[in-house]
Amino acid sequence: MTVAEVRKRYLDFFAKRGHVIIPSAPIVPENDPTTLFTSSGMQPLVPFLMGQPHPAGTRLANSQLSFRAEDIEDVGDNRHTTFFEMLGNWSLGDYFKAEQLPWIYEFLTNKEDSLGLDPERLYVTTFSGYAASGMEADSESKEIWKEIGVADDHIYSYGAEKNWWSRAGVPSKMPPGEIGGPDSEIFYDFDIPHDEKYGKTCHPNCDCGRFIEIGNSVFMQFAKQEDGSFKELPNRNVDFGGGLERLTAATRDNADIFLIDTFDGARELLENRSGKMYGDQNATRSFRIVLDHIRAAAFMIASGIRPSNTEQGYVLRRLIRRSIREADKLGSTDAVLGKVAETYCATYADAYSFIMKSASAIREELEKEEAQFRKTLTHGMRELEKSGKDIDAFMLFTTYGFPIELTEEIAKEKGILISKEEVQKKLEDHQALSRAGAEQKFTGGLADQAEQTIRYHTAHHLLLKALQKVLGSDVHQRGSNITSERLRIDFSCGTKMMPEQKAEVEEIVNEKIAEALPVIRTVMNKEEAERLNAEHEFGANYPEQVSVYSIGPKDATEADPKFSEAFSIEFCGGPHISNTSELIGTFKILKEEASSGGVRRIKAVIE
Ligand code: ATP
Ligand code: MG
Repeated sequence: MTVAEVRKRYLDFFAKRGHVIIPSAPIVPENDPTTLFTSSGMQPLVPFLMGQPHPAGTRLANSQLSFRAEDIEDVGDNRHTTFFEMLGNWSLGDYFKAEQLPWIYEFLTNKEDSLGLDPERLYVTTFSGYAASGMEADSESKEIWKEIGVADDHIYSYGAEKNWWSRAGVPSKMPPGEIGGPDSEIFYDFDIPHDEKYGKTCHPNCDCGRFIEIGNSVFMQFAKQEDGSFKELPNRNVDFGGGLERLTAATRDNADIFLIDTFDGARELLENRSGKMYGDQNATRSFRIVLDHIRAAAFMIASGIRPSNTEQGYVLRRLIRRSIREADKLGSTDAVLGKVAETYCATYADAYSFIMKSASAIREELEKEEAQFRKTLTHGMRELEKSGKDIDAFMLFTTYGFPIELTEEIAKEKGILISKEEVQKKLEDHQALSRAGAEQKFTGGLADQAEQTIRYHTAHHLLLKALQKVLGSDVHQRGSNITSERLRIDFSCGTKMMPEQKAEVEEIVNEKIAEALPVIRTVMNKEEAERLNAEHEFGANYPEQVSVYSIGPKDATEADPKFSEAFSIEFCGGPHISNTSELIGTFKILKEEASSGGVRRIKAVIE
């Protein structure tokens, strides 16, 4: 089947079963400063899975454009791409296991209007329990699979590391109030020889590439209690995610996802330009990297991202630069990326018309970046050749703009080890850390929204308001970066802060923590939020309906937020803690420094 056929069959299947088909959210999350990219279908729906009602109802499905920077090193194998479409269906307190598992099985195996996969090739996994938190095995799912007719030797059980979902990880890591539950994965057996490098025997979760995960049903079923035990939720959710490209590969019974129709045009073009064939010795990995990265780059540029040295733009730049290197390895030294991208604009014109509208911007940006980088490469390579075994990655980067990852890769090819820590240390001293912000978020996704990050997010609101109180109401946010270790804010202010002013800001924030103020989320019209004078980011593009977080007064409730007495009100997608008392510790400013003209930067922690 083609990708378009599989996508259509999936959406039709779930529409027939009462699901509203919602559009793919943008690949750059809206109102979420904690992550750079949308990396799953679930991510944009988190607020609704946490209990907010969704305007489209309780049964939803879509195909979500997803990007996972953290998978960049995996690209080159038969099944990972950084960019892919995730088919998803959700029950928001509606149906549960007894509907989800039979439906998904029917979709995979029915020949009529579904995928018609051979049931013999399907393997499923269920949760085997987690003694440390007294969680029992998910015997319900196992029973349902058996009733459907899945053979015993096609059902495997794994522990919480593999088959438990929560934003915080395994049950013992979850804070009280957090929700989670077992999941059940489906694998397709591509029946290719097992590679013993990955272990003596092969099984569904083996990484050799024979069994490939094509879908995962998450059952959000429990809430962790104060005493560490788990209680069944009154409203249980289902979240299913399945890789569109992998499912298409299964319909073709070929374990290489780069052989599906999506990549045909790009692959042939690269073959013609390079003289190498996909599948030639030592060529496949390079082909796969270019095929994946340029498709991702095309969607990013169409989404408004431009190559730069920070955040999303830096990730885009990295994808482009890696592609140039790999295209070179294939022997294609002329500019080729713009042409590769053109094939994708044509391929995706029907499903995602916005990409066609950006076709010329995509080509131009890629050509510009390629030309510029080729110059850098020529200079840097000359230096690299001269340097023999003494490769100075830091000098190459600061003098020639030669990317450190690339120096590392080339050094590795030459059998030279570069100390990443040492280079990183020098870079920090050199204050070239804006890039590292993006690097840190590479590992991001939902894991980044760990409890500590959420706390810092709330502290960030307190800090901004305290700055306004001390320095004046014309102080506004000009940027922010939050990790689980610290928070950082850039704000408009022309002068260095005095020590007394810093102390005063700290005192205000600590006072608000001590006052135990409720943090309340309200959804309202943009105009209404503007009337409330809610703080918002300069130049940001907000949707009609916005979510606003207010902190305080002490007796504020969701029903009566008492905005006029609130300490802080901000446009914000969240998430946040629900009370400032959860900010356990003392707020401290670590550093206050100039960021750029008229903008100061503060780094702060709660210890
Ligand atoms: P894997 O272990 O194979 O990396 P995952 O556990 O990261 O997969 P999930 O986070 O459960 O996968 O994502 C849901 C589905 O999305 C997977 O079942 C798979 O079909 C698809 N998927 C995940 N990562 C990728 C990727 N890098 N490229 C293509 N498809 C993917
Ligand atoms: Mg993965």
